[in-house]
Amino acid sequence: MTHYDIYSIRNDFPILKSMVNGKPLVYLDNGASTQKPQLVIDAINHYYSSQNSNVHRGVHYLSQIATDAYEVTRRKLKAFINSKEEHEIILTKGTTDSINLVASSFGNAFINEGDEILISAMEHHSNIVPWQILCESKKANLKVIPINDAGELDMDAYSKLLNERVKIVSITYVSNTLGTINPIKDIIRLAHDQNIPVLVDAAQTIQHIPIDVQALDVDFLAFSGHKMYGPTGVGVLYGKEKWLNAMPPYQGGGDMIKDVSFEKTTYNDLPFKFEAGTPNIEAGVALAFAIDYINSIGLDKIAQYEHELLCYATDELLDINGLRIIGTAKEKSSVISFVIGDIHPYDIGVILDKLGIAVRTGHHCTQPLMARYGIPGTVRASIGLYNTKEDIDTLVKGVKKAVAMLS
Ligand code: PMP
Repeated sequence: MTHYDIYSIRNDFPILKSMVNGKPLVYLDNGASTQKPQLVIDAINHYYSSQNSNVHRGVHYLSQIATDAYEVTRRKLKAFINSKEEHEIILTKGTTDSINLVASSFGNAFINEGDEILISAMEHHSNIVPWQILCESKKANLKVIPINDAGELDMDAYSKLLNERVKIVSITYVSNTLGTINPIKDIIRLAHDQNIPVLVDAAQTIQHIPIDVQALDVDFLAFSGHKMYGPTGVGVLYGKEKWLNAMPPYQGGGDMIKDVSFEKTTYNDLPFKFEAGTPNIEAGVALAFAIDYINSIGLDKIAQYEHELLCYATDELLDINGLRIIGTAKEKSSVISFVIGDIHPYDIGVILDKLGIAVRTGHHCTQPLMARYGIPGTVRASIGLYNTKEDIDTLVKGVKKAVAMLS
């Protein structure tokens, strides 16, 4: 079923050769963070060995080199998500930072008392809490699109929730807990029919599914470098130029200004208006290499391979007595969450760890979603481009062993 040479791919990731508790590492926690290929690790080393300097400031050689390397990433991101303009790509700390930027800045400009912000029942805390903070300060109301038991959005309810009070829809493309792929094109179209902009949380999508922001006509897109085989500490906010120009700065400081006096400050042009202070330069530089890496395999191929692995894992896990998958949507990507009887997910996670298997257990920063299902948490296995059928077999064996020990 391999659509690319998985064993040569695995060789690109040095950490995958690790032993954990005396067993070969099986890394199935890619939803939390992905491992890094050697070329990304080398890029960070190279940056500090021969490029290190501050960006966008100095006239000197190293500053130019660092700035050029940093700006290469913006260009590659533009191509990767097909934004119309390079300055529509704002480099942030990550998805959380990107969503907070929009909640704060868009919220400041466009949200008033009595307005509504629409999210869904499957959002990550980072796409809930920033809006709650905004609602509290502006006396606005947060509304939630419900889901069915399979973990699919209730699109009828969504249509009914759209009205003239709604000023923004902020929603995940892929659920980090359920794996559900939301019908994002329809979601955007329905909102746009009523002139409502849409922010899409692509933290769990950008590494699995090709995204074309112009084809989607999405207004804002947020994602993190560390979940797409790049470094931590860098992420992206894509925003349509018309919105970014209409929004006030998020943070004040160096780099985001044109002129400062004690009487008045004028702000820099996009994208710098939203990039105050020294960024995480080495992470920004290295992210370009993660993009190159993904492109060298091809997201279409990655998506197809991961889908087959997901189907295989689903079938194998369902063979385990009493195992219930949380999230059985028709369209799913790369995530399997499950519970087994009344065994606590944490206990399963601890036994899997002893066997060298890395999964995540708990609420996955989606407590309201856990409440919707009436469970404290799940065991979550999340797939990356380097996982194999053997990884899944080891997981299934490990879960069976855990069940035998805990029952
Ligand atoms: N949204 C989703 C759907 C996520 O899965 C995550 C990370 N688990 C985030 C937002 C937050 O990403 P980060 O912690 O990289 O800012």
